[in-house]
Amino acid sequence: MKDKIAIVTGASRGIGKAIAIELAEKGANIVINYSSSEESAMNTKRRCEELGAKVLLVKGSVSEVEDCKDIVAKTLEEFGRIDILVNNAGITRDGLAMRMNDEEFDSVVKTNLYGVFFMMREVAKPMMKQRYGRIINMSSVSGLTGNAGQINYAATKSAVIGMTKSMAKEMATRGITVNAIAPGYIDTDMTKELASTQTDAIISSIPVGRKGEGEDLAYAVSFLASERAAYITGEVIRVDGGLAM
Ligand code: NAP
Repeated sequence: MKDKIAIVTGASRGIGKAIAIELAEKGANIVINYSSSEESAMNTKRRCEELGAKVLLVKGSVSEVEDCKDIVAKTLEEFGRIDILVNNAGITRDGLAMRMNDEEFDSVVKTNLYGVFFMMREVAKPMMKQRYGRIINMSSVSGLTGNAGQINYAATKSAVIGMTKSMAKEMATRGITVNAIAPGYIDTDMTKELASTQTDAIISSIPVGRKGEGEDLAYAVSFLASERAAYITGEVIRVDGGLAM
């Protein structure tokens, strides 16, 4: 991945941070996007730079089309190309369907679904011109199996799979692969809000017997982002310790 240019959305914390660090370790230069956690994003930047990467920090919400245009424009201005896009940014607003209000549904759709669409649309042109690209979208096992209390989130994560496959078909002849990763239960701020009784119940249903770490995802993303994954497209890889098997 030497000198490849990778955009990672939502790379200030959690899985995105682990992905940015792993791609930097493999030799890529990194564009770190985040929405509000400036200090955490600076921390990811420092870690990537220590590994020898050139790093560009771009604040912006993937739920806003103008921000997505800005992330891509700044990347092209700084590096002249985009080889890898990791659509990692995502949020939850959990609640039972019968009590969920429109805003809770809409905000998750705007970030998790529109965000992925906006970013894929913006990188499509430069990647097609280069005749090379790797796009990796973060889905979830919730999108494969459904999950009580996550009707909004599960809807977006299923939709990410549909978008991944559609985009894969549109881009395949241009040297661009588009794949999705479906994480299971990963130890990040997103899952820290769950009560310990819920956590224990989930862990006991994971065949490998532990929750996942950001690095577990980063290794899978790193492979899909490599030149060696050229013959894999439209695929969904579960990284869940067997949870949704
Ligand atoms: P996290 O710890 O909550 O981190 C979320 C990251 O996304 C942060 O860097 C945050 O930036 C960024 N972000 C949120 N909204 C954004 C927006 N509108 N624009 C740009 N960046 C935004 O989450 P995580 O657990 O690492 O999850 C990463 C991805 O994996 C998500 O797509 C999530 O749905 C998926 N996933 C996670 C799990 C899990 O168990 N953790 C399981 C399945 C799938 P700020 O720091 O600036 O807020």
